[in-house]
Amino acid sequence: MSIDYKQRNKKQWETKRKNGTDTSWLKGKKLPYPIWNKGLKNPALSNRQRGENNPNWKGGVSSENEKFRKTTVYKNWRIAVFERDDYTCQACGNRGGKLHADHELPFAEFPDLRLEILNGRTLCVPCHIKTDSYGNRISPFVIKETTI
Ligand SMILES: [Zn+2]
Repeated sequence: MSIDYKQRNKKQWETKRKNGTDTSWLKGKKLPYPIWNKGLKNPALSNRQRGENNPNWKGGVSSENEKFRKTTVYKNWRIAVFERDDYTCQACGNRGGKLHADHELPFAEFPDLRLEILNGRTLCVPCHIKTDSYGNRISPFVIKETTI
């Protein structure tokens, strides 16, 4: 990941933050911002790894999701989200401990945004469990934890 990429990511994130953390827009399934990193050169987001272009892509059935979560690009996405958030829970502000990288827009419904860093947020396990969407994403998400 280049420095430019990180800076751009940070800037976009700050813009998003400035606009508030209201998540009511999630329900409309329309992003209030463009997919800023479309076409951006980043190994973790290369087209051959994304969505329909992935040879393993079969439309987001759960087994495919599980496979995806084991991929390097997904692991890189999680790390990028953690690093951007400084390993700090975005709900309660606790740093470190057991953390999950949560997709704000549901993983299964928005496969194109699986590797969208703006769609990720760092949550500690207790906060993640409290989210509405938590129950829909059992296993790898729940099991895979990062402890620092
Ligand atoms: Zn928390």
